[in-house]
Amino acid sequence: MIEIKDIHKWYGEFHVLKNVSQSIEKGEVLVICGPSGSGKSTFIRCINRLEEIQKGEILLEGRNIHDKGVDVNELRTEVGMVFQQFNLYPHLTVLENVTLAPIKVRKTDRSKAQKLAMELLERVGIHDQAKKYPVELSGGQQQRVAIARALAMKPKVMLFDEPTSALDPEMINEVLNAMKDLARDGMTMLCVTHEMGFAREVADKVVFMDAGVIVEEGTPEHFFTNPQHDRTKAFLKEIL
Ligand code: ATP
Ligand code: MG
Repeated sequence: MIEIKDIHKWYGEFHVLKNVSQSIEKGEVLVICGPSGSGKSTFIRCINRLEEIQKGEILLEGRNIHDKGVDVNELRTEVGMVFQQFNLYPHLTVLENVTLAPIKVRKTDRSKAQKLAMELLERVGIHDQAKKYPVELSGGQQQRVAIARALAMKPKVMLFDEPTSALDPEMINEVLNAMKDLARDGMTMLCVTHEMGFAREVADKVVFMDAGVIVEEGTPEHFFTNPQHDRTKAFLKEIL
């Protein structure tokens, strides 16, 4: 479904991604972890072209996302993204946040978009908050709106960049549970997270990045019980 082949990225002189490759099948969940500054965010942001690469290629269902014919806005509807800081539109209600792109970009009619939005809000457990504004919600609720908003575009893939790290501890689980449901429903997901319980439960593969390189990858079973590299061991020791 997604083939990432030997990609390199530089920020000016700084070589941030060094020959990174990965392949993700439809319905798989990939968890990416690693120390701060290792390039995790940069890596997943390349997949919806929030960042450009300088070498290598990224194929989504066989299609090079850098081909001339690819419309970046269309790509971003196919590859949904959820950020650490929810990035909701503060002047719109929850329902309007979720229906905006389907109505504006997909030209879905309003009542249809609202029906889908309510279904998605129900799926993440906050349909009773539809008329509120983001500022009236808890962080965990806001993040679930962000997930519903991305899902409203019916993406093929979802990218998560530390979706729970800005949340108070008691709200982390409600967001992780929404993500677990999504994974069980067969969504293809790439998640940057240090929530290792989540990784154990739903990841098909865990990747450890350090200094722009994938140092180690494997099943959660391998990764947590039998890591091979010293850097992975040191990292796990710190976060587990
Ligand atoms: P964290 O866990 O702190 O979120 P990360 O693994 O997501 O870290 P990135 O945000 O991908 O790391 O950053 C990787 C490196 O690239 C860091 O050294 C960072 O300072 C640098 N970097 C990130 N964005 C830019 C940018 N726009 N311009 C220049 N350097 C950048
Ligand atoms: Mg990051």
